Amino acid sequence: METHDDCIFCKIVAGDIPSAKVYEDEDVYAFLDISQVTKGHTLVIPKQHTKNIYETDETIAAKLFARIPQIANALKETFQPAGINILNNNEEAAGQSVFHLHIHLIPRYDESDGFK
Ligand code: 5GP
Ligand code: ZN
Repeated sequence: METHDDCIFCKIVAGDIPSAKVYEDEDVYAFLDISQVTKGHTLVIPKQHTKNIYETDETIAAKLFARIPQIANALKETFQPAGINILNNNEEAAGQSVFHLHIHLIPRYDESDGFK
């Protein structure tokens, strides 16, 4: 599997950097974002390194997106949010700061979660 030595998320997949695992299978890894926008803020990534959506082939995308409903439901069950935002930043101009494709799952509670 292609990994990038200087990629922080490849290191997380390899277990070289600790993370709070939410879900894992052969192709996909999900873990809590280190900077929780709201309680349960989770990142879902392909284990295979790919920079962002532009460079992601259909097979990797299919496996990644196929897991999102299940992970969203697990977060719903655990954190009981009122809703959830699912988003993905591509390139610096759009807010991408880690250049390994990732989907943000951000549980939403109410206006007091400070995210409106
Ligand atoms: P981006 O801004 O690229 O869409 O999102 C990158 C996310 O990765 C940020 O929300 C940031 O908090 C998170 N992040 C960066 N480094 C680490 C890390 O070492 N561990 C975890 N769990 N999250 C990280
Ligand atoms: Zn990577």
